[in-house]
Amino acid sequence: MKILILGVNGFIGHHLTKRVLAETDWVVFGMDIADDRLGDIVNNARFHFLEGDISINKEWIEYHVKKCDVILPLVAIATPKLYVEDPIGVYNLDFEMNIDIIKQCVKYHKRVVFPSSSEVYGMCTDQVFKEDESFLVVGPIQKERWIYSCCKQLLDRVIYAYGTRGHIQFTLFRPFNWIGPRLDSLFAAKEGSSRVVTQFIADLLMKHPIVLVDGGHQKRCFTFVDDGIDALMKILENKDDVCRNEIINIGNPRNQCSVRELADILKKIFMEHPKHRHDQEYSEIIESSSESYYGKGYQDIYSRKPNIEKARTLLNWEPQRGLDDALKMTLHSFLEENRIAL
Ligand code: UDP
Repeated sequence: MKILILGVNGFIGHHLTKRVLAETDWVVFGMDIADDRLGDIVNNARFHFLEGDISINKEWIEYHVKKCDVILPLVAIATPKLYVEDPIGVYNLDFEMNIDIIKQCVKYHKRVVFPSSSEVYGMCTDQVFKEDESFLVVGPIQKERWIYSCCKQLLDRVIYAYGTRGHIQFTLFRPFNWIGPRLDSLFAAKEGSSRVVTQFIADLLMKHPIVLVDGGHQKRCFTFVDDGIDALMKILENKDDVCRNEIINIGNPRNQCSVRELADILKKIFMEHPKHRHDQEYSEIIESSSESYYGKGYQDIYSRKPNIEKARTLLNWEPQRGLDDALKMTLHSFLEENRIAL
């Protein structure tokens, strides 16, 4: 099987590529603007990498869409801080660039495995979010945070419409707060534009205060990336075509915790780390309003928990990593990645 991964150096892209190369005989064609997460897989004979930009290298993309069996368009800005700071940039990249790729897949009748997002459920009040039942709830236009959710939702709808009319085959997957090695860089965290787990770890490393937005009562289900990749591998394999035209949540409902609990656990793990157990001081945990942390365009999701019955049934998949383990592995690898930086 030949796979095209756009955004191959991204968090999901590089973990997936490593797994594909290690466990299958599939060939991966990948493009990204950077290669810093790829390491020595660039030398693998079954991996063909182009350093390029999806807004520029369109001929390369069309050629490879035509050539490959499955297309994964993973290029997107997926950090809430940037949704409110640069909504136009998010729209241009996340929607405009991706719709072009989808149209290429339609032209050549390809299979698309597309990253939707748990963000599409927005402020849905269901206890657990179900792919084919839950309402997708977003706030008013002034709350610019929702631009990402809307971009993903519209792409989901367009892909669904093409797929159910026979122009493409698709599987939409919805990651729920995947975490793990190389999630975000220390640089992103210094800018304050990292996702919460890496932001808190970087804050601990830099001895900056950990900021709980609006008291930190919001809940998320943190999912270890290896579990997510297990599911994604089964989606790619698509045994007996079970994933055809399906939407699948990929998250760990057992790993639910509030942002305040998250801060406490990460601080504890950091204080027990061999290199930091004798530090003179540790970050304090403080509170801030969402308006002063993110600005007026922000609005939050109070509880985001997946129903994963579909993934269990279709993929015979069950997430394995508990919350403590997942956080420990993420923290340890972040400290290892940045041991020279500070
Ligand atoms: N958050 C926080 N402090 C931070 C960064 C994030 O309290 O320094 C909160 C944020 O308001 C949200 C949650 O952590 O409720 C998760 O944020 P993240 O950026 O990881 O993405 P989300 O899960 O909202 O997509």
